[in-house]
Order: sequence, then structure tokens, then C-alpha cells
Amino acid sequence: MKISIIGSTGSIGRQAIEVVQKMQGFFEIISLTGGDNIDLLREQIKLVAPKNVCVKSEENALKLQKEFPKLNVVFGEQGLVDIASDKTNERILVSVSGKTGLKPTLAAIENNIDVALANKETLVMAGDIVMARAKEKGVKILPVDSEHGAIHQCLSNREEVEKLIITASGGPFRTKTIEDIKNASVEETLHHPRWNMGKKITIDSATLMNKGLEVIEAHHLFSMPYEKIQVVVHPQSIVHSAVEYIDGSVIAQLGFPSMHIPIQYTLTYPHRFEGIETRSFDFVKAGRLDFEEPDMEKFPCLKLAFEAGKQGGTLPVVMNAANEEAVYMFLNGRISLWEIYEITAKMMEQHKNILNPTLDEILETDMMVRKSLVGSVCKN
Ligand code: MG
Repeated sequence: MKISIIGSTGSIGRQAIEVVQKMQGFFEIISLTGGDNIDLLREQIKLVAPKNVCVKSEENALKLQKEFPKLNVVFGEQGLVDIASDKTNERILVSVSGKTGLKPTLAAIENNIDVALANKETLVMAGDIVMARAKEKGVKILPVDSEHGAIHQCLSNREEVEKLIITASGGPFRTKTIEDIKNASVEETLHHPRWNMGKKITIDSATLMNKGLEVIEAHHLFSMPYEKIQVVVHPQSIVHSAVEYIDGSVIAQLGFPSMHIPIQYTLTYPHRFEGIETRSFDFVKAGRLDFEEPDMEKFPCLKLAFEAGKQGGTLPVVMNAANEEAVYMFLNGRISLWEIYEITAKMMEQHKNILNPTLDEILETDMMVRKSLVGSVCKN
């Protein structure tokens, strides 16, 4: 299978390379793209010998081109789009973080290339457009997110579905008080109890915004109304998500937590293969499985996401952009963890919603929110 990895130096991208290495001969890597971590990219180039590489800056592109004269090196947003449009690909993995995923995903769809999608922001921003276009083109969108991968495996007849049950580990502050959360340091917030992930998603997991984004993602992926999507906190992260049918039967997907498994499944779908961490599941070893209601007072970002999703239009775009910018401000020590929620809520409140937005309106809204936030923080 000929594939490309858009975002190979991030957490998902690195694990995808491990999957490719493990399955010697199954994959041919056409292109890799990374931000500006060219040290890691250099190692990956030597390891999987891609034909094309894209980096963020022209300067790094020139550097790599000199070192690897046979490699086609491109850069910037257009470079990503060109790489995602390359029809040599049978499937691409979009594993960049934040809004960067949207354009390459659309480019792949336009060129009839199936997408293993690890970037939930793409669907939060433009789920209606992306899914409609994928349907028209007959392109598969295969969710890498472990919850959606689980639902994808549990879902048979959509008409008979009562609800989707998305599980959440609850993050590092599940048992903490609101005061603890308000005073949380960057270090504490980055310490996720179950999953080892990139920084943006780890912060989102601590505020439960990640679960909120996943609810919107699920709504688009499985065309399910928000009333039929339930979030359940499950600290052991063994049940990755479930589908309840109208007769009360529940089909869930279980396994020990590992991102290698859902990454490999989306790359090899519809087939399954032995994986890096394949071990027989043991109910006895898994032991106790707990489930509880998410606390919307302690984690109001989840409430925001349900609101944004239900209202639709450009409101999820505003929420996503405000949250993403606020997360980076928090990581840079400029605001507290709680202010991520406050800033996002305020931006949503001020927004005049545009229903059924075009792609241009979506991108414009996204840019406006980011600009106004950068401005407001500079003034403080
Ligand atoms: Mg997830």
C-alpha cells in the first residue's frame, strides 16, 4: 500500500512510522511531512526513504535538499497540499495537530485518496463540507482517534442505533477539585494518566475539550445527532467506545490502551494484522472497569462543545480556534488553565454565527478569532 504521512514527527506520526517498520514490505512511503523538527525528519528519511518531504520553512527545505539531493523537498502550506494531492498515494495519514489538517485532508479527498484522519480539528471546523465531499468522491475517512475507531468497528446498521457512547479517561484532574484545576501548572496538566500524546491534545484532555471535539467529530463521522451521543468517564481506558442499538444491546470495542492499534487499523483497513503491542486481552487482568458521569462544572469545556456542535455553523470554528490559541498561551505560561475555558466561552458569546458557512467563511472566521486573541493578550 502506497501511503504518505502528513505530520510524521508528531506523536501519531512517529507511531505510524513504527507500524510501517514493523510491517516490512506492506507499505511504501511516498511522502513525509514535518514541521521544523528536521533532526527527527532526517532520521525518518533515512529509515523509510520517501520520495517527497515537506517542512514548514523554506530555510529548512533548502537545508534538507542539500543533504538529500535526490529527494523532492517542498515547504509551507502549499507544499502540504501538493503532497496530499499526489495521486500515487492510495491512502494518507493526516496526523498534524490543529487547523493545519484541514487543507491537506480536502486536497486528498479531491484526488480520490482515502484518508486515515487523526486530526479532529478538521471535522470540528468543516465537518459538513469534508464529509459531503468525501461521500461525493467515494473517499473513505477512517478515524484514527481511538474512540471513533472503536465506534467504526461497532457500527453496523445506522438506522438501528440508539446512541453512541464515547468514553473518556477523565484526564489528570478527574478526582481534583475546581480550585486544584484553577491553580494547575503546565507540568501537572501535561501529565496524562493513560495516554502519551502531543502537548495540544494532552492539554485538551485535561480540560475535557478533547472529548468535546470528539463529540463533534463523532457527529460528523457517523452523521449522528448530538442527542444520541453520550460521554461516559471510564478511567481505565479499556472500553474505547461503544454503540447502543434500539433493542438495548451494546457493542463495545475493548483493548489495552495503545495508539499503535488504531493507527495500524486505519492504515490496513479492512484487514487486520498482528501489531507491535499485540497481546491477548485478559478480562481478569483488566480487572475493574468503572464508569461515571462527566462533571460539567469542573470541565465546562465539554458543555461548550455540545453547545457549539448543536448550534453548528461557524460556532465550532470559533470554539476550536479560541481553544487552540488559548492552549498555546497556557503552554507559554501566559494564562491559567481555567482561562482556556473563559477565553473560549467569551469568544463564542461574541460571535455572530454564520449557518451553512462556505470554506472561505470558515477560514476567515478562524483567522479573525486567532487575530483578535493574539491582539487582546498583547494588550494585557
Ligand atoms: Mg481520542
